[in-house]
Amino acid sequence: MTETITIALSKGRILKETLPLLEEAGIELIDDVDKSRKLVFPTTDPNVRILILRATDVPTYVQYGGADLGVVGKDVLMEHGAEGLYEPLDLNIARCRLMTAGPRGQQPPQGRLRVATKFVDLARRYYAARGRQADIIKLYGAMELAPILGLADEIVDIVDTGNTLKANGLEPRDLIADISTRLVANRASMKTKHRQLQPIIDKMSAAVAQRQAH
Ligand code: AMP
Repeated sequence: MTETITIALSKGRILKETLPLLEEAGIELIDDVDKSRKLVFPTTDPNVRILILRATDVPTYVQYGGADLGVVGKDVLMEHGAEGLYEPLDLNIARCRLMTAGPRGQQPPQGRLRVATKFVDLARRYYAARGRQADIIKLYGAMELAPILGLADEIVDIVDTGNTLKANGLEPRDLIADISTRLVANRASMKTKHRQLQPIIDKMSAAVAQRQAH
């Protein structure tokens, strides 16, 4: 029996790099995502549909089986916890680093540290694992402002070129993790829909390998 396969993609910066990889697996969107207001997109494969979601919702959809596969950053997976998810493939796109950062030339204070971040659970685990007392302050954006305005001693954020930190008088401190975009899969789907999912994973894997070779 051929079942419907649902793939959840993250909106935003990684979407444009994800679509060509899916195309190489024979899955192409019929609509122009930039022009459509749809949330569920049909594809050139009648058995495959695509959801375009906020990145933070992708692991949740895949975890609960709302989607069989998902494409999402490792940062989002680490914050989510990714319980019950398989992570069969590193798509090697949107590479960046998750780091702590603070005001340039300043040492972090002794004692309790105030940390601003959108990755609250991840940050809590990170400081706890180092035996560092930290008060985590949840922000939804512009983390770089927090140390400047005296809200926090340190931030935990994504760093790519480091220009955003620099422009705001901050400098990177410790590397928490190297980040890239991952393909994730629902555990039950990997069993019940294995015959349909494995070829998609294999073709995407071949496309990733081919890019790395160039
Ligand atoms: P940069 O100035 O190049 O270090 O870029 C850092 C800013 O861009 C951060 O504040 C991030 O929010 C964002 N950013 C850069 N790369 C990524 C990525 N791969 N995934 C998510 N956000 C990113």
